[in-house]
Parts: sequence; C-alpha cells; structure tokens
Amino acid sequence: MKSLSILGATGSIGSSALEIVRQFPDRFTVNALTAKTNVAVLARQVVQFTPRLAAVYDADHARQLKALLPPTMDVEIVFGEAGYVEAATCPDTDMVLGAMVGSAGLVPTLAAIDAGKDIALANKETLVMAGDIVMAKIAGRGVKLMPVDSEHSAIYQSLAGHSHNGIREILLTASGGPFLKWPAGEFSAITPKDALRHPNWSMGSKITIDSATLMNKGLEVIEARWLFNIDFHRIKVVVHPQSIVHSMVTYEDGAVIAQMGIPDMKGAIAYGLSHPRRLPLDVPSPDFAHIGQLTFEDPDLERFPCLTLAYRAGEQGGTLPAVLNAANEVAVSAFLDNRLPFTGIYPIIDQTLNHHSGEDGADLGQIIEADRWARETALSLIRRQER
Ligand code: NAD
Ligand code: MG
Repeated sequence: MKSLSILGATGSIGSSALEIVRQFPDRFTVNALTAKTNVAVLARQVVQFTPRLAAVYDADHARQLKALLPPTMDVEIVFGEAGYVEAATCPDTDMVLGAMVGSAGLVPTLAAIDAGKDIALANKETLVMAGDIVMAKIAGRGVKLMPVDSEHSAIYQSLAGHSHNGIREILLTASGGPFLKWPAGEFSAITPKDALRHPNWSMGSKITIDSATLMNKGLEVIEARWLFNIDFHRIKVVVHPQSIVHSMVTYEDGAVIAQMGIPDMKGAIAYGLSHPRRLPLDVPSPDFAHIGQLTFEDPDLERFPCLTLAYRAGEQGGTLPAVLNAANEVAVSAFLDNRLPFTGIYPIIDQTLNHHSGEDGADLGQIIEADRWARETALSLIRRQER
C-alpha cells in the first residue's frame, strides 16, 4: 500500500490521479490533498478519500473548506506555503505527487525531498526553475523521482535497460497546439477561447496556453535536461500532431526507441505512481489502422519563437530559467485576462530576459528572488503597454 500526498489535487492531473486511486484502493491511500482556492471540489475529494490533512491557499479558504465538510470529519486543515509544505512532508506519506501549476510547486517539492519522500512530478516549473538543486537533493537523499509529464515518462520508459553512454539524442514530440497550421498574419487576433481549444489534450488553462505558444515544449526541454542529465544540443523537438508517439530516444547505433499511447495522462500518472509495476488501466491502446498516419515535422520557430527563448535561458542557466518561467506565468495570465494579445506573450518574456543580469550557479534564495523580480518586471512591461 502506497500512501500519497497530492499537491494540486483539484486540477487536471490531480483529479486524474485520484481517479486512479479510486480504481486501485488496495494499492494507494491518500494522506494529504491540497488545492489553491477551489474548496468546493477539494471538499468533495476530502469526503471521498479521507486524507489526514488538507491544505489551501489562505485562512479564508481554510474556513470555507471547513464549513463545507461534515463536522465529524477528522481532517486537519492548514493553509499557505507552510500548509503545502506540511502536506508534502506528512510523516506517513510515501510519495508526493507534484501537480500544482507554476512556481508554487517549488518549495513544497524541495521540502518533500528533504523529508525523504519519493516524488512523482508533473509540476515541470519546479525543474525549470531549480533543476540542478532538485536533482542534487534527489541524489543526496536517495529518493525516487518519477516524471509524470507524458514526454518525460515516455523518455524514462525508452531509456529503461539502456546505458546512458549510448544515447545519441532525445526527441521530444510536440502536438504543435491549435495554431500549428494558422497563418502568421492571424496570430494577433487569437483569443483565449481559441487558444484554450487544444486539439488532443485536456489540461489546465496555463499549460494549454503554453502548448499553443510552444513554451510548454521549451519548458519540457529544460525539464528533460535535468531529469536525464543531457546537454541541450542533444534534446530536439519534433512536431507530431497525432500525439501518439509520446517521445523517443535515439541511440548510437541508429536505433530509435519510442513510447506510444493515446493522448491520455492517466498512463503517465499511473506509471509514475506505481513504477515499476504497470497497472491495468481502462485506457485503450492506439488503433493504428484507424489512425492511418503518424507524421513528423520541424517546429516553425518564426511563428513559435517561445521555444527559442527556452533554449536560450536553459543554455545560459543560473537564474535565467526561473526568469523565463516567471515572465511566462505573468504573460500567460495577462493573456487569459485579455490584457495582452497572444502575440504579446513572447515579447514580454524576451524583454524580461533581456533586462536580467543572470547569475551563475544560483542558490535557492537567488532563484526565488529572480522569480519575484521577473514577475514585477513582466507586470510593469504589460502595464506600460496598457497605457
Ligand atoms: P490545473 O490548473 O488543472 O491544476 C492546478 C492545481 O494546482 C489545482 O489543484 C490548483 O488548485 C493548484 N494551484 C494552482 N495555483 C496554485 C498556487 N499558487 N498555490 C497552490 N496551489 C495552486 O493544472 P494541471 O493541468 O493539472 O497542471 C498541473 C501541473 O502539471 C503543471 O505544472 C503542468 O505543467 C503539469 N502537466 C500537466 C499536464 C496535463 O495534462 N494537465 C500534462 C503534463 C504536465
Ligand atoms: Mg508534456
């Protein structure tokens, strides 16, 4: 029996993970659940999965959650970053699923590693911001880090049984998002509604916008660099609109190992939670004759320049990836609030990076400060445009 703390339980990944827990009650129990402000959904989850602890964003939402629960319910309710850390470090927890969105995942994930918990990580922003710190802690503490991002789960599976020396390249597949075939001239008219309509995957709003700009793939390049300890020039992105090949590894002898499946995150979540055992999921395998064609093409960096920014920040390292991530979070949120056009996302991140004097070998304090600085800078750039 594996006891889980699920950070970001009310989101797309968190609720899929709970679906898996529900299907395998003899394999998993839930020890802690967290959410930001969606107390209605969290309350239902607490009643169904009876965790020992639940954490929300602030005292107000903690009160709201308590009011929604039966008075006899034996659950400790905590809040704020300290509350999330408590959820991530519960004594009885074996594994923490990091499924919060954005930089909020960093501190609780690091605390979980320090507390000796195994980690299943969907929250890629944590590795983007502080990949070297996270990986050093993982090694130092001797805990397991399982990727949940579908591409990285695919790479993990494609690496199984092979020597790291024999790797030629990692090929990260990208669906290309909803605007793969849109003419560049129409990009400035893209609305949040257009961008939230992902062709293959159903996900939270932030990652859906990141998929539309290809920043998601850029963040995943940085994520892969840390998870698999491989240089940026050996991580390639290939656009594969069918999203059946979840990613590939090419080897020195020319062989390519790929992992495939239909676009459903349950496979990668269950693999991360129960590795090395595969679970009998209610997920169909691809029907290849019906699909007919699997196609591949290079990404168009002129229409999707965010990918270039991610390579640039990743290669320079230090605090730059944290700045990239924070500026992107701010720009995406402004786009979703109709404060910034779709084509305004890239320039905000680019200008924020240009204003930053990066620090090499950054420690956690410098990374958190760079994140704060980048949010402020990106916001003031957006405000200046609004005037
Ligand atoms: P989501 O928006 O659906 O859910 C996010 C969860 O985090 C919610 O429970 C929310 O309450 C919580 N949260 C949001 N902001 C928070 C904050 N400031 N503090 C504390 N909690 C907060 O997001 P999602 O699509 O489930 O994605 C979660 C993470 O997994 C992201 O890092 C994303 O990049 C990654 N990921 C998602 C998918 C997917 O299919 N959805 C695939 C691969 C990777
Ligand atoms: Mg992914």
